[in-house]
Amino acid sequence: MNIVLLGIQGSGKGTVKENISNKLNFEYISTGLLLREEIASNSKLGLQVKDIINRGELVDTRIIMELIFKRIRNNQKPNVVFDGFPRNLAQAKELEKLCELDLIIFLNLKKEDAINRILNRLNCPKCGLTTSVETAKNYICPACGAKLVKRSDDTVEAINKRFEQYFSETYPLIDYYKKQNLLVEVDASLPPNEVAEQVMRAINEHNN
Ligand SMILES: [Zn+2]
Repeated sequence: MNIVLLGIQGSGKGTVKENISNKLNFEYISTGLLLREEIASNSKLGLQVKDIINRGELVDTRIIMELIFKRIRNNQKPNVVFDGFPRNLAQAKELEKLCELDLIIFLNLKKEDAINRILNRLNCPKCGLTTSVETAKNYICPACGAKLVKRSDDTVEAINKRFEQYFSETYPLIDYYKKQNLLVEVDASLPPNEVAEQVMRAINEHNN
């Protein structure tokens, strides 16, 4: 079974990811993670990717496809979930050549709600935990006790710019998948656990 997770930043993909990875036998393919791994491997392609990102540019579809193809080829698990990919129609059409999709889960969140969440988000530099200003009192990581920080690129201006790009590039995908009867929409303004539960239900219903 092949799934695509669509949702803007702050729509709860992290919690969904944990649930899917822990409870179902899914290979989780995130383009962000693939790019970071390739950079860390110091390969020729990795150095190229690092250059592109340092210039503030987007990594093009050809490179992304190469990384995804490599990961799918080595995948041992029966199920795959894609996160952050496809980002636009061109990538969706490339993906269709590689595998058939069963379900597209759209975590629908209003831009204002997403901005609120992102601005309240705290990260632990030591163990990587993501939490919020409301949950973690005194900016102390509940998992390891380190001091939590906000991500430096989480400013209203930067978030607005990311969203603009997201809506113009990714929104046409929602229509595209709706027409193919593949799309399931989940209200992402609900608490993350409930969002994850609804996603799990959609996957189970599809399997039955
Ligand atoms: Zn921590």
